[in-house]
Amino acid sequence: MVLQLSGVTGRRMRQLLVISLLSVLLLAGKNAAALSLQYGGAKTESDKRAQQVISESSNVEQAIRLLNENWQLKESLLVRLGGVDGPEYDPEQSLITIPYGFYAEVQQRFIDDGLNLNEARRAALDALLHTVYHEMAHALIDRYQVPVIGIEEDAADALATILLLEWYPDGAQKAIHAGDLFDLESSDYTEIDEEQLAGEHSLDAQRAYRTYCLVAGADEEYAQQFEASGLFSPERLDTCSEDYQRVRSAWLRLIEDYVLSQP
Ligand SMILES: [Zn+2]
Repeated sequence: MVLQLSGVTGRRMRQLLVISLLSVLLLAGKNAAALSLQYGGAKTESDKRAQQVISESSNVEQAIRLLNENWQLKESLLVRLGGVDGPEYDPEQSLITIPYGFYAEVQQRFIDDGLNLNEARRAALDALLHTVYHEMAHALIDRYQVPVIGIEEDAADALATILLLEWYPDGAQKAIHAGDLFDLESSDYTEIDEEQLAGEHSLDAQRAYRTYCLVAGADEEYAQQFEASGLFSPERLDTCSEDYQRVRSAWLRLIEDYVLSQP
């Protein structure tokens, strides 16, 4: 722990020490400077339950391990679960923060949508994974000045979906759960207001469709299901396949000089 935090300023060190830490997991693997994961303290009962579900699933831990195994980050970066603000990436502290409250809210959305507790946990943990990779995309773009043409939030969503599809045997289902969360969030409002149009993110419904589209572009079985359900037309599914190939190769080309492990 001390080694991992030795590069931070004294002020940040004090901030970190103030936080009641349940555990600090060092998952640096073969890299000297890499990602690490920290479980911050949980105060409310809801946060404690969320913390327990997340830690027992090990899915964020596994994501950090996959990132460390597949990428060679030149600088250290901390992923902290807990806190109040976020999910967010803080460039000044090289810190990704994802509150337990975010997980709890997502799980509740899935329960309200009719899933049982186990199904809702599964879906919420998958959406949480997408969020971890989404924030990692922001960190990469910032730390390595990765050029992004278009909306950074869309690029981050795309990388998160690609990593789920590439790194997990059930990645398509995981990505669909992430899309489902956007879809549920889109039903928070019946009218699109100026604030949403002016926002940095695409509309939630668009984020849902783009996520499903990338899944269809990568997975023929899901493409057929989406076509049968009427979610996408056959013509749009053709372009989903092109979208997936294009955005996947673009991301790989952009980051290969910075983080891809050499064979
Ligand atoms: Zn973002």
